[in-house]
Amino acid sequence: MEESSKKTLNFIEQIVEHDLKEGKNGGQIVTRFPPEPNGYLHIGHAKAICLDFGIAHKNGGKCNLRFDDTNPVKEDVEYVDSIKEDINWLGFQWDNLYYASDYFEKLYDFALEMIKRGLAYVDDQSAEEIAKQKGTPTSAGIESPFRNRCVEENLDLFQKMQDGAFDEGSRVLRAKIDMAHSNMHFRDPLMYRILKMSHHRTGNKWNVYPLYDFAHGQSDYFEGITHSLCTLEFEVHRPLYDWFVDQLKDSDYRPRQIEFNRLNITYMVMSKRKMLQLVKEGRVSGWDDPRMPTICGLRRRGYTPESIHNFIESIGYTKYDGVIGLEVLEHSIREHLNKIAPRVSAVLYPVKLIVSNYPEGQVEWNEAINNPENETAGTHMVPFTRELYIEREDFLENAPSKYFRLTPGKEVRLKNAYVVLCTSCKKDAEGNIEEIYCEYIPETKSGQANSNRKVKGTIQYVTTEHCLQAEVRLYDRLLNVSNPAEEKDRDFLDMLNPDSMKVLNNVKVESILKEAKPLDHFQFQRVGYFNLDTDSTPDHLVFNRTVSLKDTWGKIAEKL
Ligand code: ATP
Ligand code: MG
Repeated sequence: MEESSKKTLNFIEQIVEHDLKEGKNGGQIVTRFPPEPNGYLHIGHAKAICLDFGIAHKNGGKCNLRFDDTNPVKEDVEYVDSIKEDINWLGFQWDNLYYASDYFEKLYDFALEMIKRGLAYVDDQSAEEIAKQKGTPTSAGIESPFRNRCVEENLDLFQKMQDGAFDEGSRVLRAKIDMAHSNMHFRDPLMYRILKMSHHRTGNKWNVYPLYDFAHGQSDYFEGITHSLCTLEFEVHRPLYDWFVDQLKDSDYRPRQIEFNRLNITYMVMSKRKMLQLVKEGRVSGWDDPRMPTICGLRRRGYTPESIHNFIESIGYTKYDGVIGLEVLEHSIREHLNKIAPRVSAVLYPVKLIVSNYPEGQVEWNEAINNPENETAGTHMVPFTRELYIEREDFLENAPSKYFRLTPGKEVRLKNAYVVLCTSCKKDAEGNIEEIYCEYIPETKSGQANSNRKVKGTIQYVTTEHCLQAEVRLYDRLLNVSNPAEEKDRDFLDMLNPDSMKVLNNVKVESILKEAKPLDHFQFQRVGYFNLDTDSTPDHLVFNRTVSLKDTWGKIAEKL
């Protein structure tokens, strides 16, 4: 049992297991999750979070949360707070909380040290001029005319950059490595730029800010990170990461960067910049709009931490980028909600059904099973009366023979109540169905000894007397393009699905839902999985459709 349930380790788990066995880093594992606080976390970040925290904690190690706050232009405390909340909601707790800005002093000292060792220089050229001299992968770059400045001049100029003597963009500090290096990142990479911006933590103390390549590896080193896990686009940066650490290190210890594939999901935008644009332009209601791929959006939509963990586990970690089908994510939440969501009745497009032989004014309360997948979930009572609402599409006046819902002369079961025989309907002048009539068959009451009369269909209903009015928001994919990355020439705003949200204002739900609390999950029987939206008030219930009942992915997966 033990053996067969043991999963094979992914390539990163194998590396970690090997390192721990060898006693590397004193047999310790320390990781970090390093978000830039310039937006809300998305489901792609959840993939990194589950790995960074998961692998450290499974192996008795530590995982730090480190805000990579080296660019004051785009960063904000609002983002810091939301990132913490989302990580906690996913079920993780960081061992230490750090900010890259905690290391500004140390990084600055290290930069001075590099200048003194002839490994860094101040370049007076603009970013554009520097970019032009970079060369190509097959031809060497051009050395800057400022490359061979003496140490004293470099120290003096760098000090002046920090003192605020120069304008933004007028000078940078560069590492002096090799303008002909086959790895373009080694062609005298930028270490510092001038930014005269107030920083959300260090205020106006700094006029120079380190760039990613200079800050990240060093921050890992200062923190004692053993395994620095990141996405594949950083693979080409790794030699430079190692080079900077080599200049700094004064012991055998060094952090090791390992890259894995980024998560992309069909019909989703997975970029903070683009998500910010959607929010700013009012294309969505906010970062937590239930159509957004953000963690807070998914939470509001009705996703659970468990479903996200299961999803991340099912897709795994590899060295190859690809795109995961949205149906895989939907399958994970559907599976979890099937286990935990109480079943209730709701009618999205109501039409009246009159049980003509049922006494007026009479109410009977029948027992409804909360969740057939979970006996301990118990039951609740649902009313039955003469006047009901059913779904408009559950009646057809002239139905084909395979139609197993209501049609004159045929029987269906009303869930938890009786079998009814449909008799007729009333139409308005335009031919729209106004009311449907039926007769109930008393001896067919659900749960009674002789209740198992054979009928092919069961439909849900609510009583007109007890039901509550609700708003329901139906969501569809945010983009109408499966893989937006492939559509290089198109503006992503043109790929937005104009029908990504549909609001139904006349939904009838059973009365027990007045006790629902924001984010509570339900299965609206025969309709889908829903949760109570945070916009909901006792006088105006609002539900989100988390996911429909139909599972396309599950059927595909069964065949695999
Ligand atoms: P975006 O491109 O959305 O702005 P980012 O990579 O700039 O994302 P960071 O805040 O720098 O965002 O990311 C923090 C960590 O999360 C990094 O280690 C990054 O590799 C990881 N990460 C970001 N996006 C994804 C993704 N789609 N799949 C897996 N990991 C991701
Ligand atoms: Mg980034």
